[in-house]
Parts: sequence; structure tokens; C-alpha cells
Amino acid sequence: MPIRQLPAQLANQIAAGEVVERPSSVVKELVENSIDAGASELLIDIEQGGARRIRIRDNGSGIERDQLELALSRHATSKISSLDDLESIASLGFRGEALASISSVSRLTLTSKTAAQTEAWQAFCEGREMRVQIQPAAHPTGTTIDVQDLFFNTPARRKFMRTEKTEFGHIDEVVRRIALGCPRVRILLQHNGRRIRDYRPLRDESNATQRLSSIVGNAFAQHALSLQAEVAPWLLRGWVAPAAHCRHQGDIQYMYVNGRMMKDKLLNHAIRQAYGEQLGDDRQPTFVLYLELPPRDVDVNVHPAKHEVRFHQARQVHDFVLQSLRQALPGTTPQTEGGDEY
Ligand code: ADP
Ligand code: MG
Repeated sequence: MPIRQLPAQLANQIAAGEVVERPSSVVKELVENSIDAGASELLIDIEQGGARRIRIRDNGSGIERDQLELALSRHATSKISSLDDLESIASLGFRGEALASISSVSRLTLTSKTAAQTEAWQAFCEGREMRVQIQPAAHPTGTTIDVQDLFFNTPARRKFMRTEKTEFGHIDEVVRRIALGCPRVRILLQHNGRRIRDYRPLRDESNATQRLSSIVGNAFAQHALSLQAEVAPWLLRGWVAPAAHCRHQGDIQYMYVNGRMMKDKLLNHAIRQAYGEQLGDDRQPTFVLYLELPPRDVDVNVHPAKHEVRFHQARQVHDFVLQSLRQALPGTTPQTEGGDEY
């Protein structure tokens, strides 16, 4: 076959294979966009585990009328404009791929209004086959994205969707992760018209444990030790369970780097090492931790789903986390140790 440029829709659908694995990945991308837009309230409506509908309404900055079509096209982003920006990312998104990918495998309606506009506008596209249609609409300042019939035009992917219950379970978990990452945002989650979660915003530090326990449960919130450590300009804070209260499953292991949830080998290693011999074989490190460091000290452009990062001073970050946890956990020895491999 001769070499050919792929049509835009096909290219988007191929990219969708990376970004949009299942309904919960759509929820993750859309919610991250709302957070990046500065929203303080989010309403997430799910129907049939997300297969029928995923609708997210936010009160963020909105998108201007003449940017709506661009927002839906590939490699279009308002978050970076140069390689230099890429090296110091503060937003959750930056690839400009999510909306293009999602709209290529669903029926997507984007409704938005900025504070400066008097009217809201709506863009509709179906499987990205037709040109985007734009019409006036009613909507307060902010954005609603309504994704219907996910994978309707990619039957092979549709087949991989599990039961409604399983898919909603994944969505619930994604929303939980994001809610832990942005405590000042109110998040409501509904499934088939029923309210499932209502994560109330953290107004000040005094209700921090309340928000924590509403998201990860009372047991953890009660026994966890709160922690705050700083080796300027790095900051680590959050909660960690003492070994005796660690869980048998690794289900409460939330690590955020600059607000972004990570499953990072290096950090996990440091955390496990901090517990030392205390854990035994049947318990897992149990924690909710936030690591803040200057965006320049970390490279987030490593993995499409952005679960991994690369630290420019990996060894030092590892030891900072290790020492901070040892100081917080009773019976472990805060000391410097060289030589441990991770
Ligand atoms: P990225 O988030 O990587 O920039 P997306 O495809 O997710 O790419 O979104 C494209 C652009 O659309 C964003 O850069 C942003 O400008 C705009 N956008 C998407 N969702 C929202 C939203 N909820 N509120 C305001 N702007 C949004
Ligand atoms: Mg995005």
C-alpha cells in the first residue's frame, strides 16, 4: 500500500485508543478540564455506567464561541504554547487530545458561556464525521459537556465495556481520586438520576478530616497521622496510617504530585521503605499524600494517561519522602541511609 495521510477522524479514533479506554477515562478527562477551567462546582451525571451518557457541568471559565470548534480539534489547547511551557506545567491537561478523541467515538455536545459573553453557545458533533454545528443555547457561565453513546461507531471497543455496575465502579473511583486532589471543589456524582456522592468543599483546614473521611471513609480518617514536612521548595503533606491500622488491600494509596494523582514507582518505594519491617506481608502502606514541588523539578510528559512522572532530582525526592514519613510514623527511625536501590 502506498503511504497516505490518515483522515482526521481516523487519526482521532486511533488516538482515542490511548486516551479513552472506558467510560471512566472520559470522566477523568472531562473533570480535569473543569478543574483546569477553575470550576468550584461540578455536577457529574452518568447513565448506564456511562455507556449511554456522561454529562459534566461546571461553573468554570467557559469557552468563547469562536473557540468551540477549535476546542474539539486535535492538538488544540489553551494550556501550553511552547516547549518552555511544557517544562513547567501547572495544569492537569496539556495534550489537547481529550475532546478530539472523545468526540470521535461518541455523540458530543459542548455548551459553554464565558463571563464576558451574554449568550451561551452549543457545538454538536457526532463521531466527528460532520462539521461541527454551532447554535445559541441557554447556559450560565461555565461549560457542560454531554457525551452520549460512547463507542457507538467503534463496535470493537464497545464490546470491551463491562457491566453497568463495573463501569460505574471505575467512574466512582476516578471521581474519588480527583475529589481528593482538589479539596476545594464541590463534586456531585449521580447515576441514573440517583445522587451517589456529594463531596462538600473544604472551606478551611478545620474541616479537612471531614472531607477526607467522606471520600476515603471514617476508619482511615480516624487513625491516620497527619503529616507536613518541608525541605524548601519541596513540601509533603497529607495523612499516613500507622502500620497497625494499615489496610490489607492497597485500596487507600493516593499520592498527588502538584495536584495530579500518581502511581509512581519511586514514590511507592520510598513510602514502603519508611514502614520498614513494621508492615509484614499482609498489610499495605495506606496513605493520602500531596507532594508539591516547583513544576520545573518534575516532568509530567512521560505517559499519555500521566500516571508517571520523572523527577529531575529523583534520589533527593525519594529520600525527602522517606524521611518525612519516618518522622511521622511511630517506631521508625528517621535517619539518612545511602545505598538502598529503588
Ligand atoms: P487539554 O486539556 O489537553 O488542553 P482538551 O482536548 O481536554 O485538551 O481540551 C481542549 C481545550 O478546550 C482546553 O485547552 C480548554 O481551553 C478547553 N476546554 C475543555 N474543557 C473545558 C471546560 N470544562 N471549561 C473551559 N474550557 C475547556
Ligand atoms: Mg484536557
